[in-house]
Amino acid sequence: MTEYNGYVTDETIEGADDGPLADKTVAVKDNISTEGVRTTCGSAMLEDYVPPYDATVVERLKDAGATIPGKTNMDEFGMGTTTETSAFGAVENPAAEGRVPGGSSGGSAAVVAAGDADLALGSDTGGSIRCPAAFCGVVGIKPTYGLVSRYGLVAYANSLEQVGPIAPSVEGAAELLDVIAGPDEHDATTQEAPEADGSYAAAADGDVDGLSIGVPTELLDGADEAVVETFWDAMDDLEAQGASYHEVDLPSVEHAVEAYYVIAMSEASSNLARFDGVRYGQSGGYDGNWNESFANAREEGFGEEVKRRVLLGTYALSAGYHDKYYKKAQDARAWVKQDFDEALDDADVLASPTMPVPPMKRGESLDDPLTMYLADANTTPVNLANLPAISVPAGETNDGLPVGLQLVGPAFGEREIIRAGSALA
Ligand code: GLN
Repeated sequence: MTEYNGYVTDETIEGADDGPLADKTVAVKDNISTEGVRTTCGSAMLEDYVPPYDATVVERLKDAGATIPGKTNMDEFGMGTTTETSAFGAVENPAAEGRVPGGSSGGSAAVVAAGDADLALGSDTGGSIRCPAAFCGVVGIKPTYGLVSRYGLVAYANSLEQVGPIAPSVEGAAELLDVIAGPDEHDATTQEAPEADGSYAAAADGDVDGLSIGVPTELLDGADEAVVETFWDAMDDLEAQGASYHEVDLPSVEHAVEAYYVIAMSEASSNLARFDGVRYGQSGGYDGNWNESFANAREEGFGEEVKRRVLLGTYALSAGYHDKYYKKAQDARAWVKQDFDEALDDADVLASPTMPVPPMKRGESLDDPLTMYLADANTTPVNLANLPAISVPAGETNDGLPVGLQLVGPAFGEREIIRAGSALA
C-alpha cells in the first residue's frame, strides 16, 4: 500500500512473457474488471465483488506483457472530481502536499506521479482522466468515443465514457493507447479508426511547425488567474516552436456542465439499479419485503454523492420531467457537438486550461457539490461532443501547483493531439 492511498488492492497480475509492455507496470482503475481480483469501484457496495472475467482492455494489457501491480483508488463509481468520495478513503496528491489529486481516477494519476507504476488506466466520463492528470502533473488521454472498448468497465454513464491512458510522458501515454485501442466484438460502440500512418507513439514527435491552434475564449473566462498565466506561458512555448493560435467561440459551452450532469446522472440512475443486494452488492437481508431489502442494501452500500445522483437522475427521467430536463440536455449536447465541429474546421486542435482551478485543498469540496461540478467546465464539453483530448503539464503556478493544458482534436484525431502535446511533455 502507498502512504497516499493510491491503491485499493495491491495484488499483482502477471501478463505474457513478452510484448510491447513486457518491462512495464500498468496500474488499473478499480472500475475496470479483473478476473479473480476484486473490483470495488471505490464503493462499499462492491467491497467483496470479484469479477469472473477480464475487461477487454485488461486482456490486451496482459497480451502485451504488462504487469498489473494493483487496482487504483477512485471516487465512488467515478462520481467526483477530487477522489474524496471513495469508501476506501481519500487519495492524497503526491505532487502537491495537502491538495486533492483530482478525480475520479485520482489513484491512477497518483501512482504514476509517485513512480509506483510506470503507466495507468483511468476512465473519463466528464474529465476523470484529464483532471487528475492535470492536478498530479502527468499526462492523460481521453480517447474518441468508440476507439477503446468499454467491455468490462463498470458503467457510470455509457454514452459519455472511455477508458484511457495516464503516463509521465505523452509518448508513454501513446504507447499504452496503441495497446488498448481498436474494435472489440464485445462492445458494439467500438469502431476502427480511419486509416493513418504509424502508431500513436510514433506521432509523439514534437513537431508543431505550422500547427493551427484555436483557443475558445469561453474556457478561459472563468478560470483562476494563476492558471491562465501558466496556460499562456505554455502557448508561447508552442508558438516559439512554430505553432500559431487564434481565438474561437464556443457559445454553447456555457450550458455544457448542466447538460452533462443531467445526462450523466440520468444514465447513472439506470446503470446503478443493478446494485440491489441480490444480483450485485451486499445483501440487504430479507424479512418478507423485497422493497425493504433493496432499500437496506442501497442505504448501506452507497455513499452520499452516489445517492444524490441516483435521486436526481431518477427525477430527471421521470414522466412529466423527462422533456424538461433530459431532452433539453440532449438538445444542448447536439449544440455543443456542432460548435466543436465548426471550431475544428478552422483549427487543427483547440487548447484551454484542463481545469479552471489549481488542485483544491483536501476536505474543501465535499460540502459544496455545486462548486465541485463547476470545476468540470472545460472537460465535460469534450465528452458531450465525443471528441479526443489530452492533458499535458503546462507548468506550475507561483505556489508550485501543477497546471494542465488540454488539447482537443477532431474525432479520431488522436495523432494530432499527441503530436501537439509532445511538444510540451
Ligand atoms: N467529475 C465528473 C463527475 O463527477 C467526471 C467524472 C468522470 O469523468 N468519471 O461526473
